[in-house]
Amino acid sequence: MKTHYDYIIVGSGSAGSIIATRLSENSTKSVLLIEAGQDYKDLNSLPNDFKYGFGPELTNDWWIKSGNKNRSLFVANSTDEQNSHMLVPRGKVVGGSSAVNAQIFLRGDPDDYDSWWENGNDEWSFEKCLPEFIKIENDLDFSGDFHGHKGPIQVRRHSKNEMTQDAIAFDKGLQSIGFPATLDHNDPDSTGVGPLPFNTINRIRQNAAMCYLNPVRSRTNLHLKSNSFVQKIIIKDSKAIGVEVNSNQNVTNFYSEEIIISAGAIGSPHLLLLSGIGPEQHLKEIGIKPLNHLPGVGKNLRDHPQVNLSWKKTASYKHDKRSLKRGITVGLRYTATGSNLNNDMLIHHTATIFPSIYFGAHSEDKYSGIGMIVCLYLALGSGELKLRAPNPFIQPLLNYNYFQEEEDLRRMREGVRLGVEVGDSASYSKIVSNIIQPSHEQINDDKLLNHWIKQNARTSHHVSGTCKLGPAADTMSVVNQYGKVHGIKSLRIADASIMPNCVRANTNLPTMMIAEKIAQFISNGK
Ligand SMILES: Cc1cc2nc3c(=O)[nH]c(=O)nc-3n(C[C@H](O)[C@H](O)[C@H](O)COP(=O)(O)OP(=O)(O)OC[C@H]3O[C@@H](n4cnc5c(N)ncnc54)[C@H](O)[C@@H]3O)c2cc1C
Repeated sequence: MKTHYDYIIVGSGSAGSIIATRLSENSTKSVLLIEAGQDYKDLNSLPNDFKYGFGPELTNDWWIKSGNKNRSLFVANSTDEQNSHMLVPRGKVVGGSSAVNAQIFLRGDPDDYDSWWENGNDEWSFEKCLPEFIKIENDLDFSGDFHGHKGPIQVRRHSKNEMTQDAIAFDKGLQSIGFPATLDHNDPDSTGVGPLPFNTINRIRQNAAMCYLNPVRSRTNLHLKSNSFVQKIIIKDSKAIGVEVNSNQNVTNFYSEEIIISAGAIGSPHLLLLSGIGPEQHLKEIGIKPLNHLPGVGKNLRDHPQVNLSWKKTASYKHDKRSLKRGITVGLRYTATGSNLNNDMLIHHTATIFPSIYFGAHSEDKYSGIGMIVCLYLALGSGELKLRAPNPFIQPLLNYNYFQEEEDLRRMREGVRLGVEVGDSASYSKIVSNIIQPSHEQINDDKLLNHWIKQNARTSHHVSGTCKLGPAADTMSVVNQYGKVHGIKSLRIADASIMPNCVRANTNLPTMMIAEKIAQFISNGK
């Protein structure tokens, strides 16, 4: 068995699949990609729940039910007022969370990346990220300076006749109260309401493994080890030299010249802490010998907190339960009143009531109504990840800590009221009757609405920021702008954890862009 490689990559999700593909383009370099989950080598072997992005083949809520081996299910705190603990699923399979996600394919606001650049990371201005966004996609709808047609990921928007009635009501309703229509949410200047881009073609989810890894599986210099959990990074004299891999309780060490951690925004800080890299005091409390004091590991946990609004449907409105139409197709990106953060809010419709599945309980019959999701797209607040125990198989403590900042609450209240205004408007009159949640009393009272938001807020699944990038002078940064872990040689991180902030986009595409850039840094010796 080969145990020495040029590169070891831990985690084959959105980022790891791309890094492995890019680094193995150089046939003189050997690459080992290690993934905790199962490998499905081609589209035919992929279970329906991964294959289809939406539609009747999907088992109901498969990704959130307990006992599914193809994803990790973390239990987190959202707020002190939470109705119950928040469930946080992540893909645990080759393809990672890109194989289970909802496929909204957004880039973010140019200001997201320019703010990284302003904070001393000159490789990350929007101008320098744009070529990677273009390289990743094959946009089937738009051309021009901002779009690509040669990338491995196909992207499209849904046309009006593919939309549910509430999508059309949402689009119309928002335009009728003055929001501009946008046909391309990925145009850097765009704002307003319009069809969201999706990486779904013929209902097939274009996950990172399928689009990047599958076509290059025959490369002899690329080895993929699935069902294998990396439980520790081996560090000698402040240099990462290998990893301890647990496959079915057998532990084997693998060694390489460089190690790239792409285990995701939960997995990456978890692995660093288990390996003695993180806040010294915390490591000592848990009983792990600190090897490198990095106070930022696990801190700065970012996400997009969201709440869902729901209305009862009118008696005449019938959900087409066998429909092949997708339940979310149109979104609104807008700037909250008085905010200096462009497009800091996202609202989208949902064709049915969204049951409170993330809290472990189903509420209403989902076909009894229609919903909307209001999402704080750039929160000021952040949470943290800590170890509960030195045992790698005990999940870390996750505190999302939503809504500690009054400005976050203020913008969310405004977003909820805007959603209610649209749902109550003429465009919805034929399809919904009365609002179910929040109640009129809660809508009309700031204090009650704050409480309702804090009780019901849940994740948009965009956990990020837990190993943020930044110059060494920023003591809370974990990696430099090339993804290199401060203070440890030959160790990089490349995934959603290195975002300094949760960008104003759903995080799959921005994570892929990060992976493309870091793969280039590695290949160029940076
Ligand atoms: C339910 C859901 C819906 C989402 N919807 C959208 C959406 O519509 N649009 C969007 O843009 N984003 C969406 N996201 C978010 C997006 O998919 C993620 O931000 C993105 O995939 C993160 O990529 P990553 O490479 O950082 O991590 P991941 O893709 O999660 O990959 C991490 C990989 O590392 C593996 N791993 C972890 N620890 C170890 C270890 N110790 N040893 C070995 N392997 C390990 C994991 O099994 C996993 O395969 C969604 C996510 C979820 C879960």
